[in-house]
Amino acid sequence: MKLDSLKINREKYRLGIRSNIFLGFAAFAVIILVLLWVFQISMLNTFYRYTKEVEVKNTADEIIYTLRSEDYFDQIKEIARNKSSDILICNEYGIVEVLVTNVKSEVFDMLSPNAAALMYSQTARSGGSQLVEIPKQKKQKNESTNPSEGQIYQQHGNDNGNGNESLLYCKCFVNPAGESRMVAVNSKMKPVDATVSTLKIQLICLSFVMIILSFGHAIILSRKISRPIESINESAKELAQGNYSTEFEMSGSKETAELAGTLNIARDELSKVDDLRRELIANVSHDLRTPLTMIKGYSEVMRDIPGENTPENVQVIIDETERLSSLVNDLLDISKLESGNIELEKITMNLTQITESIMMRFEKLADYQFNFYHGKDVWVDADELKITQVIYNLINNAITYTGEDKRIDVVQTVENGKVKISVSDTGEGIPQDKLVNIWERYYKVDKAHKRAQRGTGLGLSIVKKILDLHGGSYGVVSTIGKGSTFWFELEVVEPKKEI
Ligand code: ADP
Repeated sequence: MKLDSLKINREKYRLGIRSNIFLGFAAFAVIILVLLWVFQISMLNTFYRYTKEVEVKNTADEIIYTLRSEDYFDQIKEIARNKSSDILICNEYGIVEVLVTNVKSEVFDMLSPNAAALMYSQTARSGGSQLVEIPKQKKQKNESTNPSEGQIYQQHGNDNGNGNESLLYCKCFVNPAGESRMVAVNSKMKPVDATVSTLKIQLICLSFVMIILSFGHAIILSRKISRPIESINESAKELAQGNYSTEFEMSGSKETAELAGTLNIARDELSKVDDLRRELIANVSHDLRTPLTMIKGYSEVMRDIPGENTPENVQVIIDETERLSSLVNDLLDISKLESGNIELEKITMNLTQITESIMMRFEKLADYQFNFYHGKDVWVDADELKITQVIYNLINNAITYTGEDKRIDVVQTVENGKVKISVSDTGEGIPQDKLVNIWERYYKVDKAHKRAQRGTGLGLSIVKKILDLHGGSYGVVSTIGKGSTFWFELEVVEPKKEI
């Protein structure tokens, strides 16, 4: 009880397709916007700084490499111009060997030998390289034009060209002549604040547009998807109430239209099964009642009327009992076959001999003429009992429905590695439009036909199930007024060698 109420509660809080799609879209839009904000706004400065750092370090390495060539000065000038950087190479005493200023920075222009030597020693102490960020500061009024030693980095900050931040990278190295030198690369940092505020405005506008678009899209899409499903659900509820005329609307996407189509087929099948169930109850109760009434009637006559205890009357009771037991057997067989847990006990069997022996059993029936046309004996891998039942059911039907001449022909032919057994009668035949239905359980072509009423409508569906299990093919050819030929085919195998 508790579990059930828990389940019901959970069902109550389960979201519908519309809400799910809607929330999904909204969450997607929010995630995209958050990512855009994080990457474009918060981390832009970090990304820019990182790329700049890599750039100045690479520039320093490139310059050190350039010193190997003779025209290194021209190459350094070119690098400085391309990278918008100032480049300085000096020795440990602060004597400048190369100075290229490119960013109108006064950092290197005003560098005294002492300040350069100080920069050198600080770099050497920091492990051979150092990266210094020169912060953006307002220009002081009484700007010193001759910086003193020890003030080098403040000076850079106070005095780096047009007041922007710059990044200074110093690296000690040994030149091709084997002397210790230091290269310093000063690269201007472009202000990202302006870019960030432009991006912010753009993102705010984009956020509005994205929220409106995604919400609008979510509403339209969720409606489009949920509407056909809701309609299918409504029809399914009606079907569950037993309304077999309900129609599943084939609208919406391909999958929902397909689902509706499949449900329409299922509805037709259900309706057919329901009709057949009603018919079966009527048939079976009729079929059970008739022999039971006969048995009871004859038994009473034999008990009450002297001289009626004749072998003929006993035979009637035996015949009716047989009819009853064959009906019950058919019902058991079909339910076993349909349950799906039946296992075939296949053996290599002589189909010709088995057909012959079944026919011999029937030949005892007076009035009927049986012919079996066959060539050499053929073997098949099959469940002997079940295949016997197939042949038996087909011959039994032929006997029931054959014409006045009471003739039944069985023909065995072999073609393309397959053996075909055909059972023909000379009866009324079956209308073409009924040929598909006769394989269905409980189906009878002519319900009013007095002879047809003898059967249960299960014989052919048992045949079909058994042949399906064997992977064999089967069919019927029928001409109205001339008769019907029922056939089946099985794969021929080599006969088992006798040991
Ligand atoms: P039944 O027990 O009623 O014969 P079957 O499943 O064997 O059930 O056959 C289904 C229906 O197919 C029969 O009711 C009959 O209408 C038709 N049928 C089967 N065999 C023949 C036949 N040889 N000739 C004409 N009609 C047949």
